[in-house]
Amino acid sequence: MKYNVVVVGGGPAGLGAAVEAKRNGANTVLIIERDRELGGILNQCIHNGFGLHEFKEELTGPEYAHRFIEMAKEEKIDYMLNTMVLNINEDKTIETLGEDGLIDIEADAIVLAMGCRERTRGAIDIPGYRPAGVYNAGAAQRLSNMEGYMVGKEIVIYGSGDIGLIMARRMTLEGAKVKAVVEVNPHSSGLTRNIVQCLDDFEIPLKLSTGISYIHGKQRVEGVTINKLDENRNPIEGTEEFIKCDTVLLSVGLIPENELSVDAGVNLDMKTNGPIVNNTMTTNIDGVFACGNVVHVHDLVDFVTQESKIAGKNAALYCLNKSQKNPTVSTVASEGIGYIVPQNIDPQSEEDINLFMRVRSVYSNKKLVVKCEDKVILEKKRIHMIPSEMERIKISKDLLKNITGSISVSVEEA
Ligand SMILES: Cc1cc2nc3c(=O)[nH]c(=O)nc-3n(C[C@H](O)[C@H](O)[C@H](O)COP(=O)(O)OP(=O)(O)OC[C@H]3O[C@@H](n4cnc5c(N)ncnc54)[C@H](O)[C@@H]3O)c2cc1C
Repeated sequence: MKYNVVVVGGGPAGLGAAVEAKRNGANTVLIIERDRELGGILNQCIHNGFGLHEFKEELTGPEYAHRFIEMAKEEKIDYMLNTMVLNINEDKTIETLGEDGLIDIEADAIVLAMGCRERTRGAIDIPGYRPAGVYNAGAAQRLSNMEGYMVGKEIVIYGSGDIGLIMARRMTLEGAKVKAVVEVNPHSSGLTRNIVQCLDDFEIPLKLSTGISYIHGKQRVEGVTINKLDENRNPIEGTEEFIKCDTVLLSVGLIPENELSVDAGVNLDMKTNGPIVNNTMTTNIDGVFACGNVVHVHDLVDFVTQESKIAGKNAALYCLNKSQKNPTVSTVASEGIGYIVPQNIDPQSEEDINLFMRVRSVYSNKKLVVKCEDKVILEKKRIHMIPSEMERIKISKDLLKNITGSISVSVEEA
């Protein structure tokens, strides 16, 4: 089997990239997906809130995915389901394992769109036995929304990222009592709208600067001990509180799924855990592109789609030998900024470039300052910035022409 563009992963990133590759001239495009259907994580996100930027409508996850699946079908894009990509070789042969056994597929260009996976209990070392009733929040979401299983009756959620918040509401609507959402940071790590709509509206307590220090129970979870934490995240003695529950949902972070990328020789950014890319979403390997949660964890799927369109278009141009290889300059996360994607940009780009970034802390009334070699080239005032909401700055193609060396972004007094 031989294709112009092969996309690994059939979530919103993979679907968007495949459609755009086809629309930009790639003759043959294939999506390889290990799950039983296309759509990725969106299939289990039955709440609304997707697509406000892309479609100017509020869709559920499956509705959003459906629109792209229909586009992929209209574009006559091939796809393989229940098929796992095992390896990507130097010559861009892709080794897969599916219902028909091991199949090698040759590609001119590859788009990596494998999404991310959840951090587990093992990664955060909560003491206690290993009773039944400890789930990752995303796994519990799949069980309840797709497989029809309810995971518990009295629930404590650890981590107030979006998945934790969404699951607090989902479990409540399904008839469980969510006793608390426990968060180690002094602020929630989810979108503000999710705190309001998923916790406040249901009077679910959010316990900030608090950790779970023990999970009780041998056969089944019987409760948790929580502790207030000091500024170094150490438990404060005397603040212990026992909460009776039969289930603990962990929403303690997502990790871009990059084993395949690393084995293929793709360089990762230690801050994002995703591939280092330039503004065309090209990795360090010619003809290998990446987009979506595999590059960095997104809070909004619309931005995943934006990125995937860039990756798909440039994968097609690569196949048509139309991609330009101009030198790039690096983007530097300065004071107050955790990371920036893309890590490299081409000042000769004929298109505006969006820089995506996350701030390190909560800031009010500050500005984001973009500098090129210490000279300010752009400033954007922000009333409120939090680490959980991705910031975006557009560098217009006219402004790009003034860029002579690496550019930095910092948080400064407004
Ligand atoms: C609980 C939750 C709630 C969210 N709520 C919102 C919201 O309200 N609004 C919003 O805009 N966004 C929301 N998001 C964010 C948004 O859904 C994600 O950012 C987006 O789905 C990421 O898309 P992706 O294609 O990069 O990854 P995914 O959707 O994870 O897709 C990756 C795909 O790659 C496949 N794959 C991985 N490895 C392989 C392999 N080796 N071989 C073959 N296939 C492979 C996986 O099976 C998967 O289908 C939410 C996310 C979650 C988890």
